[in-house]
Amino acid sequence: MILELTEEQQMIRDVIREFCEKEIAPIAARIDVEMSFPEETIKKMGELGFMGIPFPEEYGGAGMDTVSYSLVIEELAKVCASHCITCSAHTSLATNPIYEFGTEDQKKKYLPKMTSGEFLGSFCLTEPGSGSDVKSMKTFAKKNNDGYVLNGSKAFITNAGYADIFIVFAITDVSENGSGMTTFIVEKDTPGLTVATKEAKLGWRASDTRQIHFDNMFVPDENVLGEVGNGFVQAMATLDGGRISIAAMSLGIAEGAFKAALKYSKERKQFDRPISDFQSVQIMLADMATEIAAAKLMTYYAAELKDNGKPFSQAATIAKLYSSEAGTRIAYNGIQIHGGYGYSMEYPAERYYRDAKGCEIGEGTSEIQRILLARQLIKE
Ligand SMILES: Cc1cc2nc3c(=O)[nH]c(=O)nc-3n(C[C@H](O)[C@H](O)[C@H](O)COP(=O)(O)OP(=O)(O)OC[C@H]3O[C@@H](n4cnc5c(N)ncnc54)[C@H](O)[C@@H]3O)c2cc1C
Repeated sequence: MILELTEEQQMIRDVIREFCEKEIAPIAARIDVEMSFPEETIKKMGELGFMGIPFPEEYGGAGMDTVSYSLVIEELAKVCASHCITCSAHTSLATNPIYEFGTEDQKKKYLPKMTSGEFLGSFCLTEPGSGSDVKSMKTFAKKNNDGYVLNGSKAFITNAGYADIFIVFAITDVSENGSGMTTFIVEKDTPGLTVATKEAKLGWRASDTRQIHFDNMFVPDENVLGEVGNGFVQAMATLDGGRISIAAMSLGIAEGAFKAALKYSKERKQFDRPISDFQSVQIMLADMATEIAAAKLMTYYAAELKDNGKPFSQAATIAKLYSSEAGTRIAYNGIQIHGGYGYSMEYPAERYYRDAKGCEIGEGTSEIQRILLARQLIKE
């Protein structure tokens, strides 16, 4: 288990930290209020290699490990959850399945464009009527000569309005009771694909979330990802890795909220003393720091297991569950320490709270994490 980062890991953390401070921190509050997608900074992140951290150099990636990728996600979340989820959904959920399950031709065709950020990716699993219960999805792909014709809708799709590549899950065999699912790589100009207007959200407001619709959308056989009928397994495996990313995101949001609260507690004076002198405030700060330390160890541990080729699913579930709930508690205390200013949009405390909450829902709710974990524990 790592207790110290390698030189390379420290280097990537320092580079992304500097980028965040210089390029993202100055715009984070504004793009949240305006709900405006940060196209320019995301493009710059691509040019600097941040959109392809964990993929081999032969596919244009940075060839770094999952710990390094988690550090990038953590640093982004410290300053802006919207930049963070844009990068995370693109990397863990859209690029990764092509890397893990794609043919060599698919990898060569799509990965260099995705790892360089020239193409942005979306992962399309959730539907208006099917969230936690993935197998109840209604999107259907009917075999037709040399491809499939898809009909259906997807909901809450991150990056949808700016995506070039959509990883789409659809039922191909109704007799399999939801497991007969196949994954498709869909390009943005495919006839029959429409993208709805941007959703207004509580948090991650500058990230682009939309419904998308498929109306007799033809996808050629060459764009089937992996084996026909293996979509459910691929979706679950992709979400396993994605949970490390959401754990790192929760950790970053918590650290951002803590840093702001600690600074404020030393500056704000009441009763002629900084409020950090008061024991009630100190207890909140101490609890926040303790939970951050725990979340950090859990997140890096899951990342390291993945890097070492060991089973990491349970560790990722634990890290996601704990870090996301701790993130919300920490950001909640961050508001309390700021008093009335924490409730005002003048300070970032309320944004951290709104952004932290999303991590308890996206990529599997806390309730679903507990179900998955309990199932694994009982089976052991
Ligand atoms: C901002 C945002 C971005 C997202 N991005 C994407 C994306 O890019 N791609 C994508 O495919 N999806 C995305 N999602 C969807 C997300 O993964 C789902 O919202 C999530 O899985 C929950 O599904 P649901 O919203 O349908 O809630 P539901 O499944 O309807 O759950 C509602 C409530 O019931 C609980 N519940 C459901 N089933 C059970 C059970 N068996 N036992 C106990 N409690 C249960 C849930 O925990 C929750 O509290 C995104 C969501 C958000 C909010």
